[in-house]
Amino acid sequence: MRHLYLHIPFCHRRCSYCDFNTYANMEHRIAAYVDALCAELAMLREHIPPLPASPEAAALRPSIFFGGGTPSMLTPAQIERILQAAVAIVPIEQAEISLEANPGTVLGRDYLRDLRALGVNRLSMGVQSLHDPTLRMLGRIHTAAEARASYEDARSVGFESINLDFIFGLPGQDLAEWRATLQEVIRWDVDHFALYSLILEESTPLYAQVTAGRLRVPDDDLTGAMYELAMELLGQAGYRHYEISNWVRPHPADRPGAPPTLACQHNLAYWLNSDYLAAGAGAHGHVFPQRYANLRPIDNYIAAVQAGQRPIAETTPLTGADLAAETMFMGLRLDIGVSFAHFAARTGQPLTAVYGATLTELSAQGLITIDHERVRLTDRGRMLGNQVFAHFV
Ligand code: SF4
Repeated sequence: MRHLYLHIPFCHRRCSYCDFNTYANMEHRIAAYVDALCAELAMLREHIPPLPASPEAAALRPSIFFGGGTPSMLTPAQIERILQAAVAIVPIEQAEISLEANPGTVLGRDYLRDLRALGVNRLSMGVQSLHDPTLRMLGRIHTAAEARASYEDARSVGFESINLDFIFGLPGQDLAEWRATLQEVIRWDVDHFALYSLILEESTPLYAQVTAGRLRVPDDDLTGAMYELAMELLGQAGYRHYEISNWVRPHPADRPGAPPTLACQHNLAYWLNSDYLAAGAGAHGHVFPQRYANLRPIDNYIAAVQAGQRPIAETTPLTGADLAAETMFMGLRLDIGVSFAHFAARTGQPLTAVYGATLTELSAQGLITIDHERVRLTDRGRMLGNQVFAHFV
């Protein structure tokens, strides 16, 4: 199925840990940006990738993902225009349409109702913490109470698929605070969680504060214990840990050996190493045999599109070896792992012919299991994921 990522590079304020391609105080460029995004989508119609051969990838719903940045800074009318421009690429009536919403920018129930009426059917909210001093330290523009109110508003207007993002391993965070956060959000009856350990990016204010000794982050052992606590508590609450950083509520339509029904279809396309188009400033697309990255600065992006050019900054050619490696280290992130059928359909080669010796070695180390159908990480392999993935690069 076909997948489209749309980057919305505007934020009210930069969070202290963020190195995404996003800009504060650029609201005056939103209207011109939406024009440019619609024009880029018209150009992308010539570059629609073929449908996937892999059975798992073919079973996904088509998807559109509004990511950012803060897509909830756009008005419903702007989102509607973008969707109208996207319809030639992705059949939007059947699509999962996700939108990242920042609590504090979600303008109440009317706004959410309008999004739902436009066909947006999945919300992903960046909550990050339920500890107000931590939210302030991170530069977030919302409190824990506002995050909860935004979540409840989204539920009340009929969003049936809602993801909440949280970060663990934050400065000053201990296991008791993280336990309290998890216990609280489990009571909210959320469909889906994405939990990420903090990554200190060099270009960020938070990195400078930590390296200057003004803030202390938990060590690797404590951060690992937080991850294990999340696995324990969310597992006890019935969530399926279907990807290294993602948990989802079970659904009656779930089938053994298949991704969960309520999983994000768009992210599954990434993990299944499918092709996808991307539009917007700094967006990255992947249409084998190449990957492309758009111009990052908003004004450069708009100027390129206004000049009638595709706003590409860089194109990277991909080889068959790249495709095989990515298919493995992306797919092994999933609890269903990589099936022999998926690998062969995506790469044109049998898995054992490409990675037979590697699989034997990882299996002997207790990091993967292999059955007649697929290869999966063991619990230990999941804890040491990066070590496993390095074997395929
Ligand atoms: S709201 Fe999200 S994208 Fe914007 S600065 Fe904060 S973390 Fe980055």
